[in-house]
Amino acid sequence: MIVLSSPSGAGKTTLTRKMLAENSDMAMSVSATTRKPRKGEQDGVDYYFVSTSEFEAMIADDQFLEYAKVFDNYYGTPIGPVEEALQSGKDVVFDIDWQGAQQLTQAAGGDLVKIFILPPSKVELERRLKTRAQDSDDVIAKRMAKSENEISHWTEYDYVIVNDDVETSMEQLRAMVTAERLARKRQLWLGPFVKALVQGG
Ligand code: 5GP
Repeated sequence: MIVLSSPSGAGKTTLTRKMLAENSDMAMSVSATTRKPRKGEQDGVDYYFVSTSEFEAMIADDQFLEYAKVFDNYYGTPIGPVEEALQSGKDVVFDIDWQGAQQLTQAAGGDLVKIFILPPSKVELERRLKTRAQDSDDVIAKRMAKSENEISHWTEYDYVIVNDDVETSMEQLRAMVTAERLARKRQLWLGPFVKALVQGG
């Protein structure tokens, strides 16, 4: 499981989409939210857009792997699709905030890699939020005010990328994924392979 977190506007969604496009063996976890869809967002693709009462019913029914309130809205990870993807041998990618990352850390034990994306500067973060042109000035101001709190959690992550240039950040992401996949504890096939190797098979 791979978690990506960042303050809103740091470029995490772009990086996540590119990583998914390059890796057919990765699946994106689609969250449920009570936030209204932005222009161009599709239900079931970007999020499952649900009402507050629907979300609360899902909480009561234990349908979330984790959930949190972010910017006055609920966001949560439905458990079913994650389990299915993991069982079919895929890596699952989560675009969730620090609260979700903390909850997943408890649920997942060691099988979780956490990546934090930082913007190169505060000015650039605000510029990206504005050029995205999806949120009102009011919402942008709220997101900027919250960014400091989000950024303060960077020490809870395994890897950090300062996303100045998307291509450079992609190279760094690829390197992390490759290194994590080469970790001995993740190469479960190695035991039998080495046994055969020393036996001359
Ligand atoms: P946005 O409204 O910009 O799509 O997302 C706002 C924040 O909510 C982002 O930091 C995003 O990572 C986080 N988020 C999205 N889905 C989830 C989720 O299922 N759980 C948690 N904890 N955070 C989420």
